[in-house]
Amino acid sequence: MAIPVSETETFTADQKTASHIPLHYPNNNSNLTNVSYHYNPQVSQYHYGPYHPMKPFRLMLTDHLVISYKLYEKMDLYTPRKATKQEMLEFHSEDYVNFLQSITPEKTARLSDKKLAQFNIGDDCPVFDGMYDYSSIYAGASLDASRKLISGMSDIAINWSGGLHHAKKSEPSGFCYVNDIVLSILNLLRVHPRVMYIDIDLHHGDGVQEAFYTTDRVMTVSFHKFNGEFFPGTGSTDEIGVGKGKNYAINVPLKDGIDDDSYIRLFKLIMEPLITKFQPTCIVQQCGADSLGFDRLGCFNLNIRGHGECVKFIKSFGIPMLVLGGGGYTPRNVSRLWCYETSVLNDVTIDPKIPNYLPTYDWFGPDFSLHPQLEGRIDNKNSKKYLESVKLEILEQLRYLTHAPSVQMQEIPPDITGLTEEEEEIIKDLNLENDDDETRKSQNTKDESRDSEMMD
Ligand SMILES: [Zn+2]
Repeated sequence: MAIPVSETETFTADQKTASHIPLHYPNNNSNLTNVSYHYNPQVSQYHYGPYHPMKPFRLMLTDHLVISYKLYEKMDLYTPRKATKQEMLEFHSEDYVNFLQSITPEKTARLSDKKLAQFNIGDDCPVFDGMYDYSSIYAGASLDASRKLISGMSDIAINWSGGLHHAKKSEPSGFCYVNDIVLSILNLLRVHPRVMYIDIDLHHGDGVQEAFYTTDRVMTVSFHKFNGEFFPGTGSTDEIGVGKGKNYAINVPLKDGIDDDSYIRLFKLIMEPLITKFQPTCIVQQCGADSLGFDRLGCFNLNIRGHGECVKFIKSFGIPMLVLGGGGYTPRNVSRLWCYETSVLNDVTIDPKIPNYLPTYDWFGPDFSLHPQLEGRIDNKNSKKYLESVKLEILEQLRYLTHAPSVQMQEIPPDITGLTEEEEEIIKDLNLENDDDETRKSQNTKDESRDSEMMD
């Protein structure tokens, strides 16, 4: 990837910083060719409640667009199984997972306010029918995606139903119950010495930052609206990590109304040296769509192409990627964005005119375009001076990172395949038969999952 001269110069202007940045440039010819798409259509059937802004059917709209543009022809499609309780316990506390598993809307009505407060149940995170199943489906998809990256079957693995970055070890937060990002990063760390997490949701990626705050093996980088009050309230540049993790948490606080040009410029100026210095062996990118203009809960001015440019830029480094969804509360724009980003990740150009045979075509009127104008609703409060000061502060923090930390990799634990006990039994039986049958079976499973995607 060619770094535009003007951007390179911005860095070299600061001699001290430049002398600490090794000369390393991203792949010119990215060889991330195997893209996989992990989607269980059941996830779109759940409802947080009629007035709740989180609408899981946005995932169905996204999938319809992806299918209409025939992007499934480019990717390996998987319908992942649910995450098991055991898998959730890799990060979440047992008390909390038991609570999620047993609570129902009926039982909630009988619980004391104290108990509900203990598990942070309320308007943001209500108890709704099937909440546990919903969480295990989206978390299962992220884990499946991480396994395909680990096995080398995928270079880029996409799960638009994941990216629920606010969930904490022992409580839900900001519409997120199970933190699929933390679970999949933990899985990736079994084989990857360094994982970089990049969050371009409107909100601070607090749950992920907190989970890896004390380690240098995960660098978390979050771009978000920040004024100390805006949800979740955290994400100032002062939050840099502690202990071994000091300086491995990066926060880019932004003000209302940031537009494509300033966002993309800042994003590239910050991400290029961070990736160069940290040298992640895998990148997890959370692509929350609430940073788009005209989002129901949003206050930025990004267009779909602007947001997608950040994904394109990270892809250009040629490092394996797990790509996840996140926030996004204007469903038609969320689905436009994630469909467009799916095309970017597959290196294909798609017609901005939405195909008229789409079953949910009416949702995309009156323009029926993949790229509606989304900027201009809110004044841009980010002055050049402000953005420059944020950039300098982060580059200063970067100077304290002397090298990419290396770790002695332990032996890969046996459960890395992600098979449940039941599945392992089946495989044991199959192994008694001959190998040819086994190969055919896995091919059939793949074909079946492809068929079910196309029929949806
Ligand atoms: Zn958000």
